[in-house]
Amino acid sequence: MAQFRFRALEEVLSRKPIDVKREENLVSDFYGMNVFDRPKMKKYLSKEAYKAVIDAVDNGTPVDRKMADQVAQGMKSWALENGATHITHWFHPLTDGTAEKHDAFIVHGENSTVVETLSGSMLSQQEPDASSFPSGGIRQTFEARGYTAWDPSSPAFIVDNTLTIPTIFISYTGEALDYKTPLLRAIAAVDKAATEVCQLFDKNVTKVNANLGWEQEYFLVDEALFMARPDLMLTGRTLMGHSASKDQQLDDHYFSSIPTRVFRFMEDLENEAFKLGIPVKTRHNEVAPNQFELAPIYEELNLANDHNQMIMDLMKKIARRHNFAVLFHEKPFAGINGSGKHNNWSLSTDTGVNLFSPGKNPKSNLQFLTFVINTLKALHVNQDLLLASIMNAPNSHRLGANEAPPAIISAFLGTEISKMLDLMEESVVDRKMTPEEKTALKLNIGRIPEIILDTTDRNRTSPFAFTGNRFEFRAVGSSANCGGAMIVLNTAIADQLTKFKVEVDALIEAGVKKDEAIFQILKKLIIESKDIRFNGNGYSEEWKAEAARRGLTNVTSVPTSLEAYHNERVVEMFGKTGVLTEREIEGRVEVEFEKYTKKIQIEARVLGDLAINHIVPTAVQYQTTLLDNVKNLKLVFGEEEYATLSAGRIELIREIGGNVSAIKAKVKEMIEARKVANVIESEKEKAYAYESTVKPYLDDIRYHIDKLELIVDNELWPLPKYRELLFVR
Ligand code: ADP
Ligand code: MG
Repeated sequence: MAQFRFRALEEVLSRKPIDVKREENLVSDFYGMNVFDRPKMKKYLSKEAYKAVIDAVDNGTPVDRKMADQVAQGMKSWALENGATHITHWFHPLTDGTAEKHDAFIVHGENSTVVETLSGSMLSQQEPDASSFPSGGIRQTFEARGYTAWDPSSPAFIVDNTLTIPTIFISYTGEALDYKTPLLRAIAAVDKAATEVCQLFDKNVTKVNANLGWEQEYFLVDEALFMARPDLMLTGRTLMGHSASKDQQLDDHYFSSIPTRVFRFMEDLENEAFKLGIPVKTRHNEVAPNQFELAPIYEELNLANDHNQMIMDLMKKIARRHNFAVLFHEKPFAGINGSGKHNNWSLSTDTGVNLFSPGKNPKSNLQFLTFVINTLKALHVNQDLLLASIMNAPNSHRLGANEAPPAIISAFLGTEISKMLDLMEESVVDRKMTPEEKTALKLNIGRIPEIILDTTDRNRTSPFAFTGNRFEFRAVGSSANCGGAMIVLNTAIADQLTKFKVEVDALIEAGVKKDEAIFQILKKLIIESKDIRFNGNGYSEEWKAEAARRGLTNVTSVPTSLEAYHNERVVEMFGKTGVLTEREIEGRVEVEFEKYTKKIQIEARVLGDLAINHIVPTAVQYQTTLLDNVKNLKLVFGEEEYATLSAGRIELIREIGGNVSAIKAKVKEMIEARKVANVIESEKEKAYAYESTVKPYLDDIRYHIDKLELIVDNELWPLPKYRELLFVR
């Protein structure tokens, strides 16, 4: 059995870095070559059709059938010239990853020939069988059919000779079955609400964009070693494995020089990303051994999220070319850093203003503060919902572990902005402000750009940090679709901005001057949301105690966290903003409960199999060798000498026996616990049952296996060890 491990290790030793050829000398010469972007649209589309698509992108105007036919014509010409043979609608179902179904362009022509076609309807809509995608019960009650519909705001692209059309995925009755549909709705909601607030400051603003810059962390493990670890292959994480004597204690991996084989993988990946118009920019080693990070330049949120999904897909494919497996799991290895996906988020106007960047004068700074303060308020009100949006089985291993954001949502602002909010709280008085008071406050607000420039203080331990011109949501997991978190965040902000506008308008209506009305409401929000602000060490025990005193949510249980969606206020918020209906929320939460159960179920099965089929036989084999040895000692030596010589071995035999018995007993109990949980009807109750009655066995059984790993002859151990997975490349 151990042969597999050693063969894998030998294979790794013989690997050479794979050469990578770049398309052109300059990236700018081939960037976006496989994307039907604006310049190509201009070339291949009629003026009318071009305008229709641009209108759809910029203003959300639907593209009608006639125009869709024209767009399809142009797109087809471009695709055929570039070697495409197939078309697929590409969407983000509520699974991990994306989905696609390919159709060839060909249809029957005359005289048993075929011709390539692409009609407007093929471009606009497809009907994949929805019944195999999670819907949380939305399908069962209505129809199994689902539709994908073209999202013109994200450009089509060609991968592997397939013209790929980004689409939304909805049920026959129009309910969202994916991440993109509600994300687009949330983007529209935040646009509407933020634009109205911007108009308090600048009438020229007619549109506000949400932006996202993700930072993707991942591990690379040699493919041969990966294949020799069924747990990694099937669950994405190691369910067993004693920690290596050395891992990240010396901090010698972070930002160190990139190993050559890995570097080639990165180059290859970047080239492919550039061809697809994904502006990848940053690459480096991360904290844990064999952990790396990749980040692009930020883009419009919907596009950025598509690009993140595209790149995760590319990474898997390209890693194989370089004999690596890429791990997106949030915690593939116990005891060392896990992987996150920081979501850098901001809002910007069509007049070119970043609303989270301080401006040049008191007025634009007040606008900046308005957006920061409303964000804090939205965060405070929706903390449990935001937590739920990033909570799932894999991320729950990472959150609250000592190197990752805690399961408490708080916001870091830095000392200077915090001081500014304190100052506003003090200086805004409840009566009408005197001109002097107002001037003094405005002067202070005007100072913001300097103080931000001067203070680059950074806090790596905050789950939601202000970083100078954006907020960075750090609790998002590395395997997640950013949509999950971004839907909730943008909905919450939209809802809060709408409330803010209503309150300000009411004061203005009552005769308060505009600037003073804004001051007063901001002061109120500062006070109400104070508890969400925390500039200290988010990883510390003191913070947990302090957060509890402040009444902040601290939930590490996935099912408990998901209950945040079952709340009247939340349902109302999603309804009012038009992002999710109550049915859609129910469906999604159901899917999340189900995913949670299934992930633990799979882990439990894999661990049970490995324990019984790999570990126990290996341990027994070694125990037999020891027993033989003891028997032989007895034959050769006298009573006394035998006793001395065999003592240690007999202890080992006992130890192995004890661990083996424990493993066998616990695996049996775990199977029984699963049987009980499996017959529970409600997905929610089942998830709770899996959490409390099945999940604990994963750690219990692992404990005994890891003990055996330390005792059993290395030559016999069947699974690549942590030191091999983490250091061999
Ligand atoms: P870090 O120091 O956190 O690693 P980086 O400079 O690598 O930061 O940037 C992280 C991400 O933040 C990048 O994708 C970057 O483009 C993005 N980013 C920068 N400014 C903004 C902004 N205003 N809005 C959204 N994302 C931004
Ligand atoms: Mg960052």
